Amino acid sequence: MKRFERRVVLVTGAGSGIGRATAQAFAARGALVIAAGLGESGLAETQASIVRAGGRCETHPADVSDESAMHALAKAVHQRHDAVDVLVNNAGIGAAGRFLGTTPATWDRVWAVNVRGVMLGCKLFLPAMIARRQGHVVNIASMAGYFASPEMPVYAASKSAVIGFSESLRADLADKGVGVSAICPGIVNTNIIATTTAEGSAAPWQAGAVDFYRRRNYPPSRVAQAIVQAVEDNAALVPVTPEAWIGYHLKR
Ligand code: NAD
Repeated sequence: MKRFERRVVLVTGAGSGIGRATAQAFAARGALVIAAGLGESGLAETQASIVRAGGRCETHPADVSDESAMHALAKAVHQRHDAVDVLVNNAGIGAAGRFLGTTPATWDRVWAVNVRGVMLGCKLFLPAMIARRQGHVVNIASMAGYFASPEMPVYAASKSAVIGFSESLRADLADKGVGVSAICPGIVNTNIIATTTAEGSAAPWQAGAVDFYRRRNYPPSRVAQAIVQAVEDNAALVPVTPEAWIGYHLKR
């Protein structure tokens, strides 16, 4: 029997990048995957790739920052399943630019998706997991959450918040049968650079990062493997970091 056979795994932001690779990785190990997030065509592509490979996948469009949309997602999922076994709070957005050039509106948007979205996922899916005393939450943070990131302070702050929240939640749930992991990818080759909000002095950072991405070409499937492993090991905090990315930060 495959390791995640008869398990239900919900992945947010599953229409591209790390979320898609994670959905594929759990499906390949036997899970029924619920691919949630923005962008119905991306979610449909994720679903098609899983079905082509012989796996099972449902899709649910949902904006993780929108409480009513997340309630609707939880209701739809819990009508079909007692609980999810693994919740991967992956949906996230980037923001680049030195602090004084960034706007409070960017702060609010990034925190709404990267932090509030994680909180809402936990709020809505944890009670059913706790009732069964079984389950695992994976929150996607970033190396930016604990290395100095002068060109992305808003993003870094949001990812530090995800790390602090995850570690606190893990301690809270330690006696309730539910594990919590925070995954901290380094720089991974996905759409996120292209979709990152760039303000003020962000252009040179963005050009450098794009170049760095091309040279490193670290695939999202490597992060997906680390996520699956974190669930299997009940790991707390997992850096997934090409060494060169650490060097890039430390040299600055
Ligand atoms: P990506 O842009 O390919 O994926 C992000 C996904 O989140 C997209 O499918 C997008 O549609 C979805 N999304 C965005 N806002 C949403 C919202 N409000 N509601 C629902 N879905 C939403 O980029 P990625 O690199 O795969 O990012 C996945 C996660 O990994 C993010 O949390 C990101 O911060 C984190 N991360 C990425 C890197 C990297 O270098 N790529 C490094 C560290 C952490």
